Amino acid sequence: MTRPLVAVTATTRRESPSDPPRLRLNAAYLDAVDRAGATPYVVPVADPSHAGAVLAPAAALVVTGGEDVDPALFGESPHPGLGRVARDRDEWELALVKVARDLGIPLLGVCRGIQVLNVALGGTLIQDLPSERPGGLPHQQVEGRSVRTHTVTCLPGSRVAQLVGESATVNSMHHQAIADVAPGLRVTATAPDGVIEAVEWTGSGWWAVGVQWHPEELDGRDAALFRAVVEAGRASPPSSISPRR
Ligand code: MN
Repeated sequence: MTRPLVAVTATTRRESPSDPPRLRLNAAYLDAVDRAGATPYVVPVADPSHAGAVLAPAAALVVTGGEDVDPALFGESPHPGLGRVARDRDEWELALVKVARDLGIPLLGVCRGIQVLNVALGGTLIQDLPSERPGGLPHQQVEGRSVRTHTVTCLPGSRVAQLVGESATVNSMHHQAIADVAPGLRVTATAPDGVIEAVEWTGSGWWAVGVQWHPEELDGRDAALFRAVVEAGRASPPSSISPRR
């Protein structure tokens, strides 16, 4: 069987003022795509008008973790708890999500990726969970990245429930989360404190799932999320000419 190509987003930044800007991406995403039977290709931040060309070979798109989303993009002022933002990356990834939706390219959003998916479609974010939702669970775990630290309850019958089960325990490395859910998405997993941990596209013609945790760092059932987006991509082979569904 041929190996589909899966586009994986990345960031560009300087670690210190004396360093040149460098492309950065946790290799765990690439390994997860590879294990799911596809070949990843990294899509660095570029002019948003290039999104269609960059996704032309893509069977699927993985929107990865990283910086906070600029709250101006969902109509809010920066909260004191807001972390580092990358406006160029935001605008690039919002364009990628919209092209994926318009062409029916299956999408898996991870951590920041679920947030970008939601903002691209018109939703909003909680900018800083500890200060805006005090008393909740610790969603920025101090344990290692592959340690599962809180439970999630998944909506029966949803894609995420079919893939990881109706009750799962996940890792958690985020201080932002979805606030208002975008039109067309539905919540398919929540943490015990009510924080939204997964969403999916409700319409036909587009496979799109976002998870707030990091399945690429986990063993076991979570690999099914990557297999599922690759399988969805196999079902709709790429074409840069016309919408596929
Ligand atoms: Mn969490």
